[in-house]
Order: sequence, then structure tokens, then C-alpha cells
Amino acid sequence: PTAELQALDAAHHFHPFTDRNALAKKGARVITSADGVWLKDSEGHKIIDGMAGLWCVNIGYGRKELARVAARQMEELPYYNTFFQTTHVPAIALAAKIAELAPAHMNQVFFASSGSEANDTNIRLVRRYWQVKGKPEKRTIIARWNGYHGSTMGGGSLGGMKPIHAHGGMIEGIHHIGQPDWWSEGGDMTPEEFGLLRARELETAIEELGVENVAAFIGEPIQGAGGVIVPPSTYWPEIQRICKKYGILLIADEVITGFGRTGNWFGSTTFDIKPDIITIAKGLSSGYQPVGGSILSDDVAEVVAEGGEFFHGYTYSGHPVACAVALENLHLMQEEHVVEHVANVAHPYLKARWDALRDHPMVGETKLVGLMGSLALTPNKEKRAKFAAEAGTVGYKVRERCFANDLIMRHVGDRIIISPPLVITTAEIDILVERAKKSLDEAYKIVKD
Ligand code: PLP
Repeated sequence: PTAELQALDAAHHFHPFTDRNALAKKGARVITSADGVWLKDSEGHKIIDGMAGLWCVNIGYGRKELARVAARQMEELPYYNTFFQTTHVPAIALAAKIAELAPAHMNQVFFASSGSEANDTNIRLVRRYWQVKGKPEKRTIIARWNGYHGSTMGGGSLGGMKPIHAHGGMIEGIHHIGQPDWWSEGGDMTPEEFGLLRARELETAIEELGVENVAAFIGEPIQGAGGVIVPPSTYWPEIQRICKKYGILLIADEVITGFGRTGNWFGSTTFDIKPDIITIAKGLSSGYQPVGGSILSDDVAEVVAEGGEFFHGYTYSGHPVACAVALENLHLMQEEHVVEHVANVAHPYLKARWDALRDHPMVGETKLVGLMGSLALTPNKEKRAKFAAEAGTVGYKVRERCFANDLIMRHVGDRIIISPPLVITTAEIDILVERAKKSLDEAYKIVKD
């Protein structure tokens, strides 16, 4: 019974990113099975997953092909490592497939089991790059406030989430600049002016820190966990220009935007960015196996290799079962034209309906790139005002109503975000939007009263 499961869960399972006291009062929802874009819970509810789990189940749930590949790989070679000059077919084949899909100048992959681990790898990689080039003092990495790069000490330090920094501090050599969130922080500027202003904070930071001390800049093409902050059109070209001018490495964290989410295989293509390193995870295996990594430009791979052995790696770097499943996931996505479905079908269909939510009295900005979207909630659209209640109070109410209406959307402060499985059909988009509207109406009534 659900209540028994919830009690056991509360007694023994210490959840990530969860308030344990809230959990003790109201048990966690127990998810029992899933198919396509639909989750089922222990009470028999059919829930539409507007978040693809944690932005990762790109191919949708319930794909038996992936289960079969995992079983076959476990029988044949359940584990072997890729240290000390050994390798195996799944790691070879997956690295080659990623290189085929990645931008032309990127042909090497370093594997990890998660986005956080991959970003920790990146910290060591870029510092090592400059050591080999004879500039060991070039070690500071510039990142953005409200960015998210994972939860390890390295990933959490790169990220710009203050509550994470507050839980245990930060590693040294990380510097944060402002985020390109025009809706919340752009004041009277146009989005384009604000995009330039925020990008130029990178130039100011490089000048202040001294270019001789700066190794790299890291950013998500679209900030995901920060609230699906889509940067103004001026932002990325200016960042790219500054990285080039000062010769610092550019890391695109594509843990969310990679593998079709923005309507291209990589968000770097969508935003015309030429990174030196791309962080990947999540959609790489559609979440069926924990696997991530760093795709390296030929320059980064060659320079780091010149330095001899790279003293870094994880027991599960290139895990054969994870690699085999990820490879099959990418095959299925290619065979079924999933990325084209996002660009040509799901995105235009959802965009018309998502943008129409701006008619709702509480919705200000609507954003949708590929299948990654946000709604900014506001009491006054003209002024882009914030609610009087503590930030996130209204967002939480909308999320709760969604939960009650069997729709998973997430709230980040007073923004509501979606990132459904990429295989979502137009009929399912209708259901998602209908439930979203209903939830917004119900929350608005509570907020107004
Ligand atoms: N980078 C980005 C952009 C992410 O969104 C995430 C997770 O949400 C991570 C890194 C961390 O990935 P993981 O949770 O697999 O460690």
C-alpha cells in the first residue's frame, strides 16, 4: 500500500533536493511504471510527464529495445574498464557515434557516469590544457550566477546556485558573472542591449582577473535548472567573440540541451556556438543508464595528450552496459527521426499553444526553444513585476496544482518550466497544455483570493 511505502521511504531514504520535513508530513508520490510520455503511480493515476524525468528521457519511457540491449550486454561483458590501455566494443562504438553527431572539429569523448562528473573532468581538463601549454597559472574558470553544472563539489562550484554554495562551500578558482535573464533583470533595456551587457561582463571579468589567470568560460546554451532562461539573440555571439579575442576555452554544458532538446543534435548548433568542450549526459542514454562525458575539440584532445598520461578517470568511465544502451538510444533517435520531429512537428505545434498562455492573467514571458520552455509568472505583465510573497511561493502553488491534475511541470522560483520527452505527439501536447491551463487557473484563484 502507498502509505506503507511512503512511511518506509520517509524513514530510510534521504532524498536529493528535498525537504525531509515536508516529506515526513506528506509522503512522496510513488511512481511505479511508465510508457511513452506517461507515468503511472501507486494509486493508479496516469500522469503526463512534462519534464522527461529530470530533462532526460528524450526517447520516451518503455522502450524494450533498450532493455534488451542492456540484458545482452550484461550477459556478454557486464563490466570492464577503459584504463591502462584496455577498451571494449560499446565504448568504442559510442565514442565514434558521438563524434559523428558532434560539430566537425570535435572528435574525442571522455566518458563519465553523470553531468556532474563530466564537469569535474572539464575543470581538470582545462587546467591541464594550460599547464601543458606552459601557463599553469591559467586556472580560473568563469561561470554564471544561477547556472547549473551539477552537484559534486566541482559541478556545484561552477554552478551559480547560492544555496548549493552555502552547503559546504566552493572549490577555489571559480568566478561568477551575471546571467542573461532579461525578464527578471533587464530593467528598461531592450533584450538585445541587455544580452550584450551581460556578455560583456565576461570581458570585464577577464580584464579584472588578468587574462593570464583565466582558463575557460562555461555556460549552458540555455540555462535549464535556472528556469529555462533563453538568452537574448546578442548574447552568444558576443561571448564567442570575447572567448576568441582573449583565447580562453569555451565549455558548452549541453547536459540538457544535447541530443535533440533544442531541435538540433546540440544546442551549440541552435545558437551557433563553437565550443572547445561540450558536456553531455541525460539525453545521451535517454536516462535509461547513468552515462555522461566531455566531447573534446581536436585542439584540446591533442594538447592534453601531448602532456602524457591524463591523471583522471572513473571506474565507470565508458561502462559497457551504459555505452551499449546509449548507442542503441542514439540509433533509435536517428532511425525514428526524433530530432526532426522536435524541429518540424512538436516545436511549432507546442509553440503556438505555449505562447497563447500569455493571455492568462498571471503569465508574462513565454519561452520555448525546441521542447524546452518556461512561463514567467507575474502580478503585472507591463512592469514585469515580482509577487509580494516570497519568490517561488506562486510558482510552487502552480506546480502543486499541476501535480494534483496529473501533469509534471517544475517550478524554479516563480517560473514554470517544461521539457517533455521528445517523442510527444500533438494529441499529447493538447493534453499537456489543457492541464497546464487548468492548473494555472486554479492557482490564480488561490493567489487572488
Ligand atoms: N549540467 C547541467 C546543465 C545540468 O542540467 C545538470 C543536471 O541537471 C548537470 C550538469 C548535472 O548532471 P548530473 O545530475 O547527471 O550530475
